[in-house]
Amino acid sequence: MRSGVPFVDSHAHLADPAFDADRDEVVARAGAAGAEAVVCIGESLAAADRAAELAARHLGFVAWTAGVHPHDAAQYDPMRDPQAIRERLSRGAVAVGECGLDYHYDHSPREQQRRAFGDQLRIAAESGRPVVVHTREAEDDTRAMVVEAGAAGVRGVLHCYTGSHSLADAALSVGWYVSFSGIITFKKWTDDALLRLVPGDHLLAESDSPYLAPVPHRGKRNEPAWVRHTVERLAAARGVEPAALGRLVSDNARRFFALAAPEPL
Ligand SMILES: [Zn+2]
Ligand SMILES: [Zn+2]
Repeated sequence: MRSGVPFVDSHAHLADPAFDADRDEVVARAGAAGAEAVVCIGESLAAADRAAELAARHLGFVAWTAGVHPHDAAQYDPMRDPQAIRERLSRGAVAVGECGLDYHYDHSPREQQRRAFGDQLRIAAESGRPVVVHTREAEDDTRAMVVEAGAAGVRGVLHCYTGSHSLADAALSVGWYVSFSGIITFKKWTDDALLRLVPGDHLLAESDSPYLAPVPHRGKRNEPAWVRHTVERLAAARGVEPAALGRLVSDNARRFFALAAPEPL
């Protein structure tokens, strides 16, 4: 049963062990809830390979990416990893990432985060593939690197975005997209103006599952089917119908990631 609210989950960690017991059921539930596609994020090379396997089992529905997360930048190997990412792009990964800067957790030294991120922006530039960017409490460095890459023609998305209006504006000014997660359904979310700031043709929605389950599932393991709640919240903030907002984020995701058209029902 389709819900009448279509969507594409632009960012799901379905390779995560949290889904080992029921990964294919999770994918099936996403489709039943209205998902037209799910982008499975390879936040490490090992995760990318598991994401590729999942995509092969759900051809045309699950797409996958390959990159090195800022948390793991300390282990990033500039001699080996760029080639490994390029090789996965040639095997069908639709985007580079997720990569970026996280100065909140600082799991890796900032210098190494910038190096890994810069290399991945260059891979996006040379491959023509878009880049999926994670940024937290690293606004000045993110702005500088995103604006430089964007000016050089790199297309990207700020995923699970909760940052300032000015960083969103800077990314939008170079043609980038902004993706919102279930965080916008939480009671503590107050920045609806940010949800209205992003132009309709540069807006994406995501689960970031298994993390950040939206209300009314908050605290549970998240899954792509629940992006519907985030779409409904976005629609309410923007004063449009959920189905229309869902159509918009689906079309945007398909264009951004160059996904195939959905199967006819
Ligand atoms: Zn992230
Ligand atoms: Zn992520």
